[in-house]
Amino acid sequence: MNYDAIIIGAGISGLYQLLKLRQLGLNVKVFEAGTGVGGTWYWNRYPGARFDSESYSYGYSFSKELLDEWHWTEHFSPQPETLKYLNFVADKFDLRRDIQFRSRVKTAHWREGTRDWQIALEDGSKHEARFLITAIGLLSAPTMPRIPGVETFKGQSCHTARWPHEGVDFTGKKVAVIGTGATGVQTIQEVAKTAGHLTVFQRTPNWCAPLHNGKIDEAEMAEIRARYPEIFKRCQETFACFLHTPDPRAALESTPEEREALWEKLYANKGFGMWQGNFRDILIDREANKLVSDFVAKKIRQRVKDQKTADRLIPKNHGFGTRRVPLETKYFEVYNQPNVELVDIKETPIEAITPAGIRTSDKERAFDIIIYATGFDAITGAFDQIEFRGENGVTLKEKWKGGPQTYLGILVENFPNMMMLMGPHTALGNIPRSIEYSVEWVSGLMKHLHEKKITRIECRSEGVADWTNHVRALGEGLLSNEIDSWMTGINRNIEGKNTRIVARYSGSAPAYRARCDAIAAAGYTELNLS
Ligand SMILES: Cc1cc2nc3c(=O)[nH]c(=O)nc-3n(C[C@H](O)[C@H](O)[C@H](O)COP(=O)(O)OP(=O)(O)OC[C@H]3O[C@@H](n4cnc5c(N)ncnc54)[C@H](O)[C@@H]3O)c2cc1C
Repeated sequence: MNYDAIIIGAGISGLYQLLKLRQLGLNVKVFEAGTGVGGTWYWNRYPGARFDSESYSYGYSFSKELLDEWHWTEHFSPQPETLKYLNFVADKFDLRRDIQFRSRVKTAHWREGTRDWQIALEDGSKHEARFLITAIGLLSAPTMPRIPGVETFKGQSCHTARWPHEGVDFTGKKVAVIGTGATGVQTIQEVAKTAGHLTVFQRTPNWCAPLHNGKIDEAEMAEIRARYPEIFKRCQETFACFLHTPDPRAALESTPEEREALWEKLYANKGFGMWQGNFRDILIDREANKLVSDFVAKKIRQRVKDQKTADRLIPKNHGFGTRRVPLETKYFEVYNQPNVELVDIKETPIEAITPAGIRTSDKERAFDIIIYATGFDAITGAFDQIEFRGENGVTLKEKWKGGPQTYLGILVENFPNMMMLMGPHTALGNIPRSIEYSVEWVSGLMKHLHEKKITRIECRSEGVADWTNHVRALGEGLLSNEIDSWMTGINRNIEGKNTRIVARYSGSAPAYRARCDAIAAAGYTELNLS
């Protein structure tokens, strides 16, 4: 056996897990498909890419030295800076020496006889370890749209999550963007600044809220550093680890003036407040949701000059906050520019990508560049791309056919010694906060196994049934679970992903941690250890 543990993926999860296992004295190897560290921030180099969590709530919290040394220059860090940060982390903790880049894992097979995992890379090489930890990301398997002729286009085609490292120049070019999710919104508002002409192909408009980004100077950064303990404490206490948490009041029990006052305040404030810091009933009560949706629709109508275009940009098939809310910077004003056209592909569907451009049901438009902002095969996509085989050859794909079934979102029955970071049915929210918790929980378990010389762990069917039922029960009554989105497992670009599932844990992060902590404190007696 080559290693005590193999980790797949060198994003925020994989990097921290490597560090923690190394501190336990274990012999660990990370295999990463990309040529560098960073995961999401390595792959998504499209113009305007940035996270919507406040920078100082998104970075790692585990090292005071790291917090003291790093200067975030914007409240919502752009992708190049986040990638620089993750490279800084890799260098600071000397992580690269245990990471093998350009190494895509194709298969991972459990071998009962030797109680180890054997993984095979794309190049055919095989590697073995007692434990396997997946850190492969929940938004890391990009999807292209299922439109005929994609491969025939003679101009430049770019998927936002496979963006050319040398960048793309839009100056004076005829550019198409397909997709108006969080990535599409960020791309469109940036490309519109330099493109000769921009055509946006929209299937489903999304409810957006303003980001209100700003620079952070030395003085403000010093103040943030002093507040770090308070910032991370707050993230530990809130529902989804964001700095924002729901207002305890209900929209329906508030007066129209109170509602308007909160919504105006949230709309003018930074970050996810409008989504995560709103009245407590807007995501569970249809009437409350309608009121907040009407407020945001009014804002769109005020910001977009042409009312027909404004109407097209207002979602009709879901309410505010029931899908991931993109945060924007002058996104709606883009549609006031003379060089920007919005095509609603529900009215005039795309029939084909042609060598010259895109043909919709009414006409063909020529383009120099087509940008596919068509997202990801979310949550389970990266798992589906690896052939995981557990006990008796069972595949993970077969196991999860009717939707994921896990224990805490970390372990899967019949897949001994395999642990997932940010797998399905785990707490997500402000994700690095959840990553740090999961990595530390997995590390605690690994320490226990190491000290007690335990070579095999597996969760029990009753534990999986309990957790899966709990996750499903938590999803009941949430308006977001009645909507088609990546959060309910729907992706029309992928065969078979057309039935809604409960793909994510929607309870509170503190409740999730309390449950996991209790299991650890009891000595992991809910697991089969031998
Ligand atoms: C555009 C964008 C914006 C986002 N904004 C936010 C935000 O505002 N707030 C927030 O909390 N989260 C945000 N996220 C989610 C983001 O993915 C997480 O915050 C975080 O980066 C996840 O880290 P990770 O290490 O778990 O996964 P990833 O960063 O996805 O890393 C997974 C790594 O695994 C590698 N990998 C996958 N499969 C294999 C394989 N078979 N073999 C080898 N390597 C493999 C990949 O190459 C990748 O490097 C955003 C995501 C995107 C795409």
